[in-house]
Amino acid sequence: MTTIQGDGFTVTIIKSKRRKTMALKVDNKGVSAHIPSTLPLATTQAFINQRTSWIQKKLAQQQQRTVQEKQFEDGEVFLLLGENYTLRLFQSDEKALVKKTTSTIEFYGRLNKLSKPAIRATIIDWYKQQADGYLTARTNWLSDVTSLQPISITIKSYKARWGSCSIKGEINFNWQLIQAPQDVIDYVITHELCHLTHHNHSPKFWFLVEQFMPDYKRHRQWLKNNGHKLAL
Ligand SMILES: [Zn+2]
Repeated sequence: MTTIQGDGFTVTIIKSKRRKTMALKVDNKGVSAHIPSTLPLATTQAFINQRTSWIQKKLAQQQQRTVQEKQFEDGEVFLLLGENYTLRLFQSDEKALVKKTTSTIEFYGRLNKLSKPAIRATIIDWYKQQADGYLTARTNWLSDVTSLQPISITIKSYKARWGSCSIKGEINFNWQLIQAPQDVIDYVITHELCHLTHHNHSPKFWFLVEQFMPDYKRHRQWLKNNGHKLAL
């Protein structure tokens, strides 16, 4: 079976002698490209690269359908740096706040007055703060290791991507990444830092990623398999 690697997904190539045009399909089996049998793979790759954000969006939609949405209820399990934490909700008349212990994420607030969306918003704010602290410090550290210096590091909300790197050298990360294991986070940071040198997903780009992280494919695969679980 022929496959082509995209940014965070694999595309299965299905050739047909009768087909005159190229079509991309995203379903519960993944991404497939239906192409005329004479079409060069390089052309297919270029087409897939062009449609990357569309594919990522479709994949995210596909995955959201299959994962149960978090209810932000007492006893529910949440992730932080790849570890499981049980959410505990405690009544408090003080301003709402979130604390972490070795095994729990604890929310304190007026449980009798606060709506579910308000509790969710407070917990998500807390996650964003964790993401900001950890991802910024870790990127600075990996930036020193690799000698690849971004001009800025920003934590954002994305629906269907983990990070991005602008032509100017600004790096952005999805705050939801803070739930992933540390090695996976390192892979995403390394990936974006390498875009400072290669603003594409060429073989040269992947070669550079591999220099800094020889087992990066394992972490990329983890995101493919588990990324949808990080939606909150
Ligand atoms: Zn990339």
